[in-house]
Amino acid sequence: MKIGIVGGGFMGLVLAHEISKTDATVKVFESDSQLGGLATHYDYGSFIWDKYYHVILPTDEHLVSLIKDLGLEDQLQWRRSMTGYYVNKQFYSFSSSKDFLLFPPLSIIDKMKLAFTIFYGSKINDRKKLERITVKDWLIKTGGKRTYEKFWSPLLIAKLGESHERVSAVFIWTYIKRLFQARSSAAQKEHMGFVKGGYKTVFDRLEKLLIQKGSKVITKTNVTDITENPSGGIDVAYEGTKEHFDKVIFTAPLNILEKVSGPNLVSISNGKQAVEYLGVICMAIITNKPMTPYYVLNLADKEVPFTGVIGMSSLVDIEQTDGKYITYFPKYVTSNHNYWSKSDDELTSIFMNGVQALYPDFGAEHIVSSHMHKAFKVQPLQVLNYSDIIPKTTTNNPDFFVVNTSQFVNDTLNNNSVVSHVKDFMKDFKKELAPTK
Ligand SMILES: Cc1cc2nc3c(=O)[nH]c(=O)nc-3n(C[C@H](O)[C@H](O)[C@H](O)COP(=O)(O)OP(=O)(O)OC[C@H]3O[C@@H](n4cnc5c(N)ncnc54)[C@H](O)[C@@H]3O)c2cc1C
Repeated sequence: MKIGIVGGGFMGLVLAHEISKTDATVKVFESDSQLGGLATHYDYGSFIWDKYYHVILPTDEHLVSLIKDLGLEDQLQWRRSMTGYYVNKQFYSFSSSKDFLLFPPLSIIDKMKLAFTIFYGSKINDRKKLERITVKDWLIKTGGKRTYEKFWSPLLIAKLGESHERVSAVFIWTYIKRLFQARSSAAQKEHMGFVKGGYKTVFDRLEKLLIQKGSKVITKTNVTDITENPSGGIDVAYEGTKEHFDKVIFTAPLNILEKVSGPNLVSISNGKQAVEYLGVICMAIITNKPMTPYYVLNLADKEVPFTGVIGMSSLVDIEQTDGKYITYFPKYVTSNHNYWSKSDDELTSIFMNGVQALYPDFGAEHIVSSHMHKAFKVQPLQVLNYSDIIPKTTTNNPDFFVVNTSQFVNDTLNNNSVVSHVKDFMKDFKKELAPTK
């Protein structure tokens, strides 16, 4: 059985890794010059680290199990992490039970309401009900308006930008389950992890294992057409060539699927509303002194041009980043945001003004370099009744499958869900992909 996988991001490669354990042969097509998609690496001059920030949580059981399966367990490192809030021009830690009790922006009553929302949210099992109410309405209903404005709203803005009011309560439910369980119950302190060398280590290992199994992984290869072959199977067109496969699995975002496959193969929105994606504009700054003690700083300040501050070097030892500190400043934006029409220099100047306002003690002498990263299709927006508008894994053709992040209905966008999604797919379709085993 010959299987083609379109997309050499984490989904495509994890899928290829699992399929390569069967008798099937796999070929992965990646349009970019390097593997990894949104989780790819970047050369920051004197060291290589993730283009966008990535962290592993102790609750990421599927991801941790994959890392062990790849033989990278000894490269997985866990560190104590801190979360901060910037409210009323002040920084507050929100990293332990003590911080929670002392958090000045919320009164004791607000804190009780907040604790109730987290406890109540973590006990909910019926996603469908949460899909019918907006996250804002649900949070205000369970925890009150003040708790929403002072605590939840900055966190939602950091994750979803201005679109946060349009998503359903599923978003915060999955977030509560994933993030608040990251605190170890014994110490009630957060711990987060990363693989030594960043995600490059993971992609390098995946690629090496795939090649050892006889699979092919090709970069700089843009798939332009996916069509059904009248005698069965699927044809994939790329770079002036057409190649036949018994089965093809598509893993890239839905706008690409629309472009490369015809309606005969897959009807993406089934005549309903289309899945909308948020993009991210993210400045990374390399400095010669630490910028922030927090891994995540949530910002409750509409004047700041980005939606959060991610202090990667608060987790990763600076020996891994050539003795320098790396901090990311992301902003999640819709596809019609005016930031997309700005040049990198213009965006850098806007973001740097925000950095100056937050960290006035930071001067040009502390900044080694700055890098502006942009990705147009990142986070599928989990709007009301989202599960009704996503494409199914199976399509109009039994040899063509769609396996991508738009299909996450019980989770936010993260790599643990990628691994779990691949495992579910393999459970359902392994026999069809590799009938001999
Ligand atoms: C700012 C940011 C922070 C994040 N933080 C975390 C985190 O802390 N923890 C975590 O677990 N996850 C995090 N994530 C999410 C994580 O990056 C994603 O879960 C993961 O990268 C999704 O992988 P994917 O393969 O599904 O999609 P993608 O990475 O989008 O991969 C799709 C691939 O398809 C390729 N492609 C597109 N069109 C074609 C074509 N026509 N032909 C061939 N190839 C094509 C693309 O180039 C791309 O490589 C973060 C993401 C971002 C953007």
